[in-house]
Amino acid sequence: MDFRLTEEQTKLRKQFFDVCKELATRRPPSFAGLEGAYDTDEGWNYHLGCAREFASRKWLSLGWPAEYGGQGTIMDKVFLSEATGYYDVPGVDIFGVDMLAPTLLAAGSDEIRKEYLPSIASGERMWCELWSEPNAGSDLAGLTTSAVRKGDEYIINGQKIWSTGAHRAHWAFALVRTDPHADKKQKGITFILFDMKTPGVTVNPILYMDGGHLYNEVFLDDVRVPVKNIVGEEGQGWAVTQTLANFERSSLGAIMAMHRQIEELVKYCNETKVKGQPLAKDQLIRSRLAQLACDLWAAHSLAYKIVDAQSRHQLAAFDASAVKVLSGELQARVAQFGTDLLGPYGQVKYSRWSPFEGFFEKWYQQSFILNVAMGTNEIQRNIIAWYGLGLPRMK
Ligand SMILES: Cc1cc2nc3c(=O)[nH]c(=O)nc-3n(C[C@H](O)[C@H](O)[C@H](O)COP(=O)(O)OP(=O)(O)OC[C@H]3O[C@@H](n4cnc5c(N)ncnc54)[C@H](O)[C@@H]3O)c2cc1C
Repeated sequence: MDFRLTEEQTKLRKQFFDVCKELATRRPPSFAGLEGAYDTDEGWNYHLGCAREFASRKWLSLGWPAEYGGQGTIMDKVFLSEATGYYDVPGVDIFGVDMLAPTLLAAGSDEIRKEYLPSIASGERMWCELWSEPNAGSDLAGLTTSAVRKGDEYIINGQKIWSTGAHRAHWAFALVRTDPHADKKQKGITFILFDMKTPGVTVNPILYMDGGHLYNEVFLDDVRVPVKNIVGEEGQGWAVTQTLANFERSSLGAIMAMHRQIEELVKYCNETKVKGQPLAKDQLIRSRLAQLACDLWAAHSLAYKIVDAQSRHQLAAFDASAVKVLSGELQARVAQFGTDLLGPYGQVKYSRWSPFEGFFEKWYQQSFILNVAMGTNEIQRNIIAWYGLGLPRMK
């Protein structure tokens, strides 16, 4: 593929970077990653403010068809991800903008698209994903939350877990079982949307190991949801989940975040002296930094290859799995290097003693998330082995 951008793309990419650079100046202290947006009211309001800013430029509907208020291409959306990733700026709802909108465009009726897409594009309605259950994670098709139809409504009962941002989200997209007697577990699952304020929805926090509130368990007790809220056909929810392959899978946001972290660590090494010598002269530090930078550029190239394949509708599932594993594990290594480099200061939370506003203390703890969330790396490696390398499937 040709990695060069056109003049127009270069201009647009710069515009995204300029806006995000300005938004970064308004970031609350100690804000880091997704947790920054969901944990505190201050972070959440910042997230909503950035969303409004993007919406005013129609940047939350990049790559959508014009008839639903969209503009631009999937590549433009990638540039925005690069900019938000680089400056650690929120505002793009990963569930609404990144996951649900492409799903509605691929599998929703015209009626449901017209009802739900405008509030995603305007950044007013934020979403959460209620898929996993205590006994259905990697084996998602084993989910048991039931939805029983009564007239024009479904009555939903069950428990969801690890629901990111469910305590803040306005609406949820959920997977429920509408036919418990289907001959295969993938059949009889339905994809449904509901308001998180519906009576019977209870959200309890699951605090992360750093004390942050990002994840939740969600109990659904006799939750009544109109039948018209299903996406696709009743019982065809599994096929609807497969359309999520259309969502942007490059991990370029995470990759750009690492570029910035490495730049900042290099600057720190140049400016910080230990025993009269800049850290940048230490052979071990130089070698570790260089290795990380090389691996990062490898991940970056793979990510661009994936975007290119995706924009030509030729994305293979194992390509997306490969970049997810590569960038996720790299993120953990960058975080570990940052905390190692800072020594005891790397363990200090936000204070006048903590370099980078305590970023690496937080980041080190958050860096484990990607090994599990959105499908564990073991499952991704299975996909690479079966579909990428053609290795035999274990029974
Ligand atoms: C931080 C975080 C955020 C999340 N956010 C959400 C969310 O917003 N919404 C949502 O619905 N879910 C969310 N999840 C849930 C996530 O999708 C599941 O945790 C994940 O799919 C793994 O499922 P599990 O936790 O049940 O682990 P299990 O499936 O029980 O797996 C346990 C271990 O066994 C391994 N394993 C299982 N099956 C196989 C196999 N066939 N081959 C090899 N190894 C295997 C796994 O890799 C893992 O190491 C989140 C999870 C985390 C940790």
